[in-house]
Amino acid sequence: MTVQPVKLARRGLMFVLSSPSGAGKSTLARQLLDEDKHIELSISVTTRARRQSELDGVHYHFINQDRFSKMADRGDLLEWAQVHGNYYGTPQEPVEKALAAGHDVLFDIDWQGTRQIADKLPDDVVRVFVLPPSMGELQARLRRRAEDDDDTILKRLVGAREEIEKWSDYDYVIVNDDLQNAFASVKSILAAERIRRERIIGLRPFVSNLLEEAQAISSAAEKSAS
Ligand code: ADP
Ligand code: 5GP
Repeated sequence: MTVQPVKLARRGLMFVLSSPSGAGKSTLARQLLDEDKHIELSISVTTRARRQSELDGVHYHFINQDRFSKMADRGDLLEWAQVHGNYYGTPQEPVEKALAAGHDVLFDIDWQGTRQIADKLPDDVVRVFVLPPSMGELQARLRRRAEDDDDTILKRLVGAREEIEKWSDYDYVIVNDDLQNAFASVKSILAAERIRRERIIGLRPFVSNLLEEAQAISSAAEKSAS
């Protein structure tokens, strides 16, 4: 008896990292993208001004309000939200292409966007929330990052409460005290989520084949015993 071999493949997943601004999600995201070639970043569009350290098309696509509204109206955005007074959104097409090619996509988005994506594609989303060890440390990190003026930092700290309140929307919560430990947790989550049985394409026929062969072995054993 010969069974047709089944090739196993995997559906790409959507890996969301959210946190109050300054807790360290971009740092964790960068480390993951550097180390893991099977995941790519979803590059958002934003109306926020570019920071000195940022590159257009790498960290964000920096666009004006008019262009943002047109993209949102045309349905080009998988999700969008207003955060700290600026608009942010996820272009839909690159995400669809990556997932169809079996790649994983990393999202650095807030709780509002996470809810929208989870409503649209619940089976493909893995949600991770990053917490700071304390509010004092969050403030210190925003200051140390030295990318925003005092006004902006204050806005972000005030906004942190609203973001932290959404912690229970997420599948996993990581307290980013020690960066190495936090990164190890991110990698463990991704590794485990990649092998969830629901994501493995062809698993059912693969197991059927194994059972068919197991049945053949049982039958042969019974025959030789009788
Ligand atoms: P977010 O993307 O959540 O706004 P960032 O990744 O930009 O936050 O991190 C904010 C600042 O805190 C950065 O200067 C980063 O280097 C620093 N940082 C991140 N994680 C840690 C950590 N575990 N311990 C100390 N500093 C950290
Ligand atoms: P920042 O201005 O610090 O880069 O980002 C501010 C907040 O906006 C962060 O919480 C970040 O995760 C969120 N954000 C960035 N891009 C998007 C996006 O495309 N959609 C949504 N909903 N939030 C985003």
